[in-house]
Amino acid sequence: MLIKSLVNSGNSRYIFNIYFKRNLTNQVGRHYDIVIAGGGMVGTSLACTLGKNAKLKEKKVLLLEASASKPFNIGGKYSNRVVSINKSSKELLERIDSWKHIEQSRFATVKQLQVSDALSDAFITFGENDDISYIVENDLIVKAVSEEVKKCENVNVLYNAKVSEYILPDYENNIVGIKLDNGDSYTCDLLLGCDGVNSTVRKAMQSDYISWSYHQMGIVSTLKLSEKTTNNIAWQRFLPNGPVAMLPLTDELSSLIWSTTPAEAKRLLSLSEEEFVNELNIALHCKHPSSIIIQQATNLLDTALRMLNCSSVEQKQSPPKIEGIEPNSRACFPLGFGHSSQYIRKGVALVGDAAHRVHPLAGLGVNLGFGDVTCLNEVLGDAVYAGSTLNDINYLKNYETNRQRHNIVTMSAIEGLHRIYNTDLGPVVLLRSLGLQTTQALEPLKRMMMSHASS
Ligand SMILES: Cc1cc2nc3c(=O)[nH]c(=O)nc-3n(C[C@H](O)[C@H](O)[C@H](O)COP(=O)(O)OP(=O)(O)OC[C@H]3O[C@@H](n4cnc5c(N)ncnc54)[C@H](O)[C@@H]3O)c2cc1C
Repeated sequence: MLIKSLVNSGNSRYIFNIYFKRNLTNQVGRHYDIVIAGGGMVGTSLACTLGKNAKLKEKKVLLLEASASKPFNIGGKYSNRVVSINKSSKELLERIDSWKHIEQSRFATVKQLQVSDALSDAFITFGENDDISYIVENDLIVKAVSEEVKKCENVNVLYNAKVSEYILPDYENNIVGIKLDNGDSYTCDLLLGCDGVNSTVRKAMQSDYISWSYHQMGIVSTLKLSEKTTNNIAWQRFLPNGPVAMLPLTDELSSLIWSTTPAEAKRLLSLSEEEFVNELNIALHCKHPSSIIIQQATNLLDTALRMLNCSSVEQKQSPPKIEGIEPNSRACFPLGFGHSSQYIRKGVALVGDAAHRVHPLAGLGVNLGFGDVTCLNEVLGDAVYAGSTLNDINYLKNYETNRQRHNIVTMSAIEGLHRIYNTDLGPVVLLRSLGLQTTQALEPLKRMMMSHASS
């Protein structure tokens, strides 16, 4: 009670002195060099990456995860929560010896990506022979990385450990105080907030956070294809209410992410599974009425591109038909944008969704988080190697600058795509169709786009 009223009065230094400093730093095992709050895909990978960094081997790391450790049944049904991870993310998982566990379990490789517009004939394809991305279940990533965390002697993991309060360093002290909702407390030199979109670390930092809702829900489900096929293409179709995407899992299964309005999502989830599949096949295949002007303009551009010898030889393909869904595999999630103006503060850094949240239309959310992990690991290793402290603000600044440079560009591109495709206004449909058609014809531009999305 006393602590709460002191927190409310804003006297954090006083609380720190009477509560954390006096009571805790003397208790063996209660002080860590680094505490990571949040053991999702990003937090667990960060714990493992730091644990395997030879420059940081003397540093004690504690990972706190609010939920229980999740079992993963390799032979069981596919989870409806999967992510498309790019080559850089796969490389990170390889570096921390976790990819081999995924390889031994299950994942799918995307060799081609086809994006199309339901309101015109415009489409774009990426990829030929090279791998574009890998589809892995979220829980499998956490499981694979956790196997390797167990081997890191300097990393402790606590499940069912929900943090209820942080006391961050101020101008006088450098130690972070952390209180769990079971009453346990810890201190550390550096707190890393990997606690997702509603990050309490970010709130404690009082960072400016720009955010908005897309007024869309992302429906997920595991889909059964009507026939066995070499399923290595990821499909995305922009519909007037939002994009529908299918990611390969096996030759007979794909994973769905269908973004639509909250009212439509509610209706789709209330349908029987058979009715849902019918509506999904319509969404994936049916031609929407498009304007004559748009058709004529795209035909004209196609002719011009052919004359210039830069028309693409690739033909638009149709996604496979869906026969059914895995029973009870439908679920939906609210979609929104968020970006923290600050990723760091004295003794603290934000990583992953705690720092940035994007629309899943480009499948890049966790990839940005894995990029943060790689960068922060390098920066902290450099700090210690140079004889500095883990919470040296100059090194943390390097992390913030480096990641914001990358993340803001990517997030702006995703936001731009969302805005251009979230309308059925004739002139916008015309412009985006011409843009898509031109990009499809320009291989160097496509390669540039892919290279940014893979880094
Ligand atoms: C429908 C959908 C599809 C997506 N598809 C893709 C895709 O294809 N590719 C891609 O790159 N991204 C995708 N994303 C985004 C991706 O899922 C997120 O970027 C990713 O899950 C973020 O991981 P994270 O570890 O940062 O956060 P989270 O997954 O939110 O993990 C945060 C963790 O912190 C824990 N936690 C929270 N508060 C506390 C606390 N107080 N104390 C202790 N622990 C706490 C939580 O229990 C949780 O385990 C998709 C998102 C959605 C919604």
